[in-house]
Amino acid sequence: MKHEHILVCGGGLAGMACALALKKAGFSPRILAPAYKPMVLAAHQYHPRVYALSATSQAFLNELGVWSLMDAARITPVSGMELYGDGDGFVQLDSWQNAQSTLTWIVESGEIERVLHQALQVYSVPWQDDFFDQLTATGIQTKGGVQIPADLIIGADGARSQLRAKAHIEHQARPYKHNGVVAHLDAQLPHQHIAYQWFVGDAVLALLPMPDTDRGPQVSMVWSVQESQANDFMALDRAAQAAHLQSLLGALTQHRLGSLRLRSEPFSFPLTLERSAMIAPKVALIGDAAHRVHPLAGQGLNLGLGDIEELVRVLSTKASYQSVGDSRVLERYRRARVEPIMAMRWVTHGLHQLFSLPGAPIAFARNVGMNMVNKVPFIKRQLIEGAAGRKTGFF
Ligand SMILES: Cc1cc2nc3c(=O)[nH]c(=O)nc-3n(C[C@H](O)[C@H](O)[C@H](O)COP(=O)(O)OP(=O)(O)OC[C@H]3O[C@@H](n4cnc5c(N)ncnc54)[C@H](O)[C@@H]3O)c2cc1C
Repeated sequence: MKHEHILVCGGGLAGMACALALKKAGFSPRILAPAYKPMVLAAHQYHPRVYALSATSQAFLNELGVWSLMDAARITPVSGMELYGDGDGFVQLDSWQNAQSTLTWIVESGEIERVLHQALQVYSVPWQDDFFDQLTATGIQTKGGVQIPADLIIGADGARSQLRAKAHIEHQARPYKHNGVVAHLDAQLPHQHIAYQWFVGDAVLALLPMPDTDRGPQVSMVWSVQESQANDFMALDRAAQAAHLQSLLGALTQHRLGSLRLRSEPFSFPLTLERSAMIAPKVALIGDAAHRVHPLAGQGLNLGLGDIEELVRVLSTKASYQSVGDSRVLERYRRARVEPIMAMRWVTHGLHQLFSLPGAPIAFARNVGMNMVNKVPFIKRQLIEGAAGRKTGFF
């Protein structure tokens, strides 16, 4: 029954990608969200949020027809990873170790949003500029008082989902009391298409390769630190932030990329581990509305795109007598997502916990463990498969 009304609440990456995937599968979705407002960037400026897209996510965006619409000069393929422990622990992963050319692709959030929005316009997907407010017997009511009929309401309205609350979907949030601080940096040395990560106590520093600029090599920093440390840093003026980062990162990275200088305004966001029951009668959640994980594995968006692929697959293969909002259909979606989401929670939360544990013996053991992993090709291949999105793992 492809003529049924499907309403996607939320116009972020998850909402836009979901509406496009549904439309391409022959459904007639509409989006309910505040109007899309692109961030205006000059040629040498980059969107503050970047994502490490797995091969599975890349293939999905390609299938949606939007991958090739992105500016290729703004996409950075990653061919290797270097992971450093808080002792002498070290793991190096190269795509060739699993006969692949690329581990992941670093893409700006704004670039993916731009092409998804363009595609939605080409496919004439209706977009109502308003907010979800209430569930009704026949659908929903917006903040502006408009009634919209819906057989299925998809919650893509982010981590503070109103739809999740109004549908009484069970939800648990556990704050890490850490913030993610993101900014782009000028690097003195070329990144060589490698993603770098340092585990330092309970802090994690990731430097992701970005396109070179007229000032030379560039990397994007995702620095997960204690809330108080992030707040102290954000309270500094720009010059003090730049000086602080330059000395801190130099010491932390042992000048792996030479000196690192701040080139964009830093943003800070709280990190939480969140899960939900994902469905209610006629309601399904996707993206941050459904779950959030620690960004140390860079998997937030990959998980959200996985939700969409599964939801559209389940809706497309349901029996013709079943409605899109049928609880048995939605239950199939929930069940299919339990394992990948749980596995990602284990990996990201487990690693965070492992490196947060104080004490010299534990620090010794985790660094020895990293060095052992580095010597076993089989485990390295598993980690690379994880990076590709075929198994759960890094990036
Ligand atoms: C500053 C920052 C940096 C980040 N960096 C990274 C990173 O490096 N790597 C990574 O993996 N993840 C990162 N994340 C997390 C990542 O951004 C999210 O996983 C991803 O954006 C989730 O997309 P989403 O579409 O589910 O939710 P969102 O992007 O939050 O979109 C929610 C949408 O719903 C709309 N909405 C809200 N309320 C309503 C309502 N009542 N009715 C209708 N619409 C509504 C909003 O306007 C918005 O359009 C970062 C997050 C932040 C805040």
